[in-house]
Amino acid sequence: MEEAERIKALPPYLFARIDEKIEAAKAKGVDVISLGIGDPDRPTPEHIIKKLAEEAHNPANHRYPSYVGMPVYRQAVSTYYQRRFNVELDPKKEVVALIGSKEGIAHVTWCYLNPGDIALVPDPGYPVYNVGVMLTGAESYRMPILEENGFLPDFDIIPPDVAKRAKLMFLNYPNNPTGGIADAAFYTKAIAFAKKYDIIICHDAAYQEIYFDGYKPISFLEVEGAGDVGIEFGSLSKTYNMTGWRVGWAAGNARVIEALGRIKSNIDSGIFQAVQAAAVEALLGPQECVAEMRQVYRERRDMVIDGLNEMGWNLNKSLATIYIWPRVPKSFTSSSFAELVLEKAGVVITPGNGYGECGEGYFRISLTLPTERLREALERMRLSLGTLEF
Ligand SMILES: *Cc1c(COP(=O)(O)O)cnc(C)c1O
Repeated sequence: MEEAERIKALPPYLFARIDEKIEAAKAKGVDVISLGIGDPDRPTPEHIIKKLAEEAHNPANHRYPSYVGMPVYRQAVSTYYQRRFNVELDPKKEVVALIGSKEGIAHVTWCYLNPGDIALVPDPGYPVYNVGVMLTGAESYRMPILEENGFLPDFDIIPPDVAKRAKLMFLNYPNNPTGGIADAAFYTKAIAFAKKYDIIICHDAAYQEIYFDGYKPISFLEVEGAGDVGIEFGSLSKTYNMTGWRVGWAAGNARVIEALGRIKSNIDSGIFQAVQAAAVEALLGPQECVAEMRQVYRERRDMVIDGLNEMGWNLNKSLATIYIWPRVPKSFTSSSFAELVLEKAGVVITPGNGYGECGEGYFRISLTLPTERLREALERMRLSLGTLEF
């Protein structure tokens, strides 16, 4: 059995590799605490589950769903944009339902990339952008997003011959893994660059509702010209603790939305309608659960940052996302530090180089485990790592 070149070239999914290390430590009897994966530990709010249960009983929902999403779901996404961002979207033409945004992120590459084309991908970044590009036979050009630039890419350093061959650009704010944020001025620059070189912007807004301390992210689609050049991916996964439900959307430019819908209608069959009905309840129902979620993450963020700063780090409090992105101490690489922390403290952190070359020298901590476990992880690190130099 000879695998195709496209799959041979795929790296093992970052977390699959980390899982192996966890298994090995567990086999030795270590009570491993994983700060690795970003998957909310708290349950989906009750009113959303209740809606799913009701709708699951309706036989009309047992059949193939529509490919691009139920009208009522696409309308709910449009209403959310109107309420939250004052953005008007035509639910029929400018919104498509996704089986989680990861699915859409991987598939949009198929709509626009031929072998030999280029896609601009942030480094460090969510691994799916790069993998989606690879599967089409196109190439990723990695745009460094560096701490000294506020984790934003610098479009001026992209060589013009690369920009001319580029057809897609992925952006992601609030950012995984760095916690970086973007403002309207940055999006305006991105849109001007995209217009100049005829590049489609795919903005991944999975952490749009996870923000702290008075900061509140804007939508890419709020910015003048965004709808001419791009789309935004949204997801219920992190906002409503619904990672297992698989429901998200893409919204924005009608031509891109139509193309993505066309690919999807040929290879998948939509989202279980009961899940779409529950997603409508999530988006349009009571939002206190979201405020409460933000409060929980804010407390955890404070605990982790204060704990790390006591150990010698000098971190500012991030304004968004469920991640902390510190530098490794002096004389460590991302991998050697992650190995030390697992060996000494039985704690899993994600080495930053797993998100791209520019992630080297960093590690990622996820705030998605019970506060007490998080506290214990920090305590173990404090007691076992000794004096660290920075
Ligand atoms: C979690 C995450 C997603 C998406 O999730 P789905 O569950 O597929 O909707 C997308 N982008 C980033 C950067 C994420 O961290």
